Amino acid sequence: MNIRKDYVRNLWVIVSQNRHTRPKEFKKKYSLIEESCPFCPGNEDKTPPAFLTFPEGKKKWEIRVIPNKFPALNNNLPLKPHKMNKRGVLEEVPAEGMHMVIIETPRHNRTIGDFSLKKTIQLINVYIKVINMLEKERGIKYVYLFKNYGPDAGTSLIHSHTQLMGLPLIPPFIKEDEKLSFKGGKCIYCRIIQREGKSPRLVYNGRHVIAFTPYASRFNYELWIMPKRHVSRIDKLKDEEISELADVFRRSIKRVLRVASSYNVVLKQAARKGRLHLRIELCPRIASWGGVEISSGIYINSVSPEEAALLYKNL
Ligand SMILES: [Zn+2]
Ligand SMILES: [Zn+2]
Repeated sequence: MNIRKDYVRNLWVIVSQNRHTRPKEFKKKYSLIEESCPFCPGNEDKTPPAFLTFPEGKKKWEIRVIPNKFPALNNNLPLKPHKMNKRGVLEEVPAEGMHMVIIETPRHNRTIGDFSLKKTIQLINVYIKVINMLEKERGIKYVYLFKNYGPDAGTSLIHSHTQLMGLPLIPPFIKEDEKLSFKGGKCIYCRIIQREGKSPRLVYNGRHVIAFTPYASRFNYELWIMPKRHVSRIDKLKDEEISELADVFRRSIKRVLRVASSYNVVLKQAARKGRLHLRIELCPRIASWGGVEISSGIYINSVSPEEAALLYKNL
């Protein structure tokens, strides 16, 4: 049992392994009636009109991009120019930006883990397209891409979807991560990839892509996917890298769904001119966060990353 520091940030994880805990005990079941699903074909009028559909120009869609019906930001384009306001101890910026949803498939019960390689590559190319489109908008400084799946990950809609938030500021964790990862001059993640490629936390080591359970995993069975070359943004990946990343991504989701019924995915990439090493984080939501995790910078993880990697390799 030890307390491990995050690779770059000042966050600590108490790895407190409980051998009696097994993944299946964590699993929860839930259901949702298909007719009531706003993301199913035939129910398009239950969502705002599509921003984009793929294949383009065809009525029968495979992927549908819509504004979020309940946005966390005012979905107003074009954005008005704005500045940070500081009034004494209070600081703010208008909550303007875009909150979009990508409905990944017309099929209600499909997950990315069921997608073909071709379909997953198409989805990643849609991610790139929508991120680039939103980034062109004046006032949007960063597009945060994430996925909530399952009731413990922040959604009650089982129909597989991804969300994007075009934000008027660069998320502080992205800024901090980039700054700290270049503290020594060179990218520390390039070194981490070398190190984890030989560690008991390795899950997959391919030609262009690596997947491993991070040394200080905050979540049970947390898994990271990274390009091995120093690439800062998803739109800078070459076709062969996208193809391998897509394959590892869909296989990883399949593995995660064997251990958890809820998970989050986050894309950590650099802002337009940034240099952070790109990664995809898969965070199964098995244990709930308590008082320690929500505010101390210390997390308790009852599954060691080495045990998690071993399980993933054997699935
Ligand atoms: Zn549905
Ligand atoms: Zn790097």
